[in-house]
Amino acid sequence: MADLGPKRIAELIAPFRVEPGRKVRLPRDFDPAATPGANGGDERAILAEGIRTLAEYQARLAAQDTYGLLVVLQALDAGGKDGTIKHVMSGVNPQGVTVTSFKVPSPEELDHDYLWRYQKALPARGVIGIFNRSHYEEVLVVRVHPGILAGQKLPPAARHGDVWARRFREINDWERYVVENGIRIVKLFLNVSREEQRRRFIDRIDVPDKNWKFSANDVKERAFWDDYRQAFEAVLSRTSTEWAPWHVIPADDKGYARAAAAAVIAQALIEIDPHYPEPTPEARAALLTARATLEAEAPGAGGRPGSGGEPAGSVPPVGEAASGSGESSGSASAAVPTPTSAGPLPGPVSAPGAGSPASPTAEPPPAPAGAALTKKALRTAAKKAEKAARKAAKAARKAARASAPPTR
Ligand code: ATP
Ligand code: MG
Repeated sequence: MADLGPKRIAELIAPFRVEPGRKVRLPRDFDPAATPGANGGDERAILAEGIRTLAEYQARLAAQDTYGLLVVLQALDAGGKDGTIKHVMSGVNPQGVTVTSFKVPSPEELDHDYLWRYQKALPARGVIGIFNRSHYEEVLVVRVHPGILAGQKLPPAARHGDVWARRFREINDWERYVVENGIRIVKLFLNVSREEQRRRFIDRIDVPDKNWKFSANDVKERAFWDDYRQAFEAVLSRTSTEWAPWHVIPADDKGYARAAAAAVIAQALIEIDPHYPEPTPEARAALLTARATLEAEAPGAGGRPGSGGEPAGSVPPVGEAASGSGESSGSASAAVPTPTSAGPLPGPVSAPGAGSPASPTAEPPPAPAGAALTKKALRTAAKKAEKAARKAAKAARKAARASAPPTR
């Protein structure tokens, strides 16, 4: 497994970043065939590690529900957008991801301002949203084919003057607004060479299972290669900002491009550094009270009216060491790991049924990457929660003793 720690990720993605204000020339400044940072072909391992990092951080992003992540994917036809999405996102929970593919605008979309459909598709907090093509089409295909602009029903003032300078400003402003409101933006340009695009088109024609991917229109668009190159140069030069920088991913090698894309997205999530929410001591105590109630209903616990199993006197109370058989049966416990960073609820695991395939285990959840950074905070929170839990468990036992007749 490749060591894809924050340092390695930072080194790997540094050559892709477009520094804000830099004037970009393609392909001179970014070689589509380059594979910087891949030591001896470890792209597969980097991708695997990137996928693992994404899955782990996505779970925390969703739980924290404060930040979102927008991944903007741009490329020319056959640049590898679909394959990148498929592979890079293969490990994440589908419930936490949205993918929107932007095509020629519909009549309804043309009835609105040009950013309307992109704003509508932004990911919610806790979600990773992918734009397969994006608002950048408004300064790429629309610029390459002036007829599209003419069909956008714009008022004269928006159609004249320096349309593109205005749109770059509007896009930068809009992205700033989005970022300032908690949705981080990662912009990836999959930079494929003209020759590699030619090879991929031929492959799509020659391999029957790939025929569906080929469109005669793709060859027509290829005739505008230089116009697209210039439009991309302008985009990269004018819209790489501190709050939403572009990354140009060398895309002639598909495996490398996927690993590189995963690394850039992983880096953004690491920088967001989402955390599982920590329950307040009150909430933690309420959890423990609910748990004590559930434990009292365990088969054989004796606390549930009509239950006929073994009394659970041998099971120690929640949050305390076993104190002999004198304890109330309402306090038997199985440690149920919770998804909170305060760690699993305190308590032993010897409740009836423990060890069966369906029973919870006493293992705490694996520590998330980057956990070392917050270990101290976690220990403090865990101590606090444990104290509150003991108090709650004690109260629950007292209540159980008061309300239930002794079982034997
Ligand atoms: P695939 O890999 O399936 O070919 P694709 O993204 O190329 O994916 P297509 O349906 O082939 O999807 O093409 C979508 C087309 O829509 C592209 O040619 C793109 O330039 C065009 N498009 C996207 N946004 C706009 C826009 N705002 N105005 C005009 N055309 C647009
Ligand atoms: Mg296409």
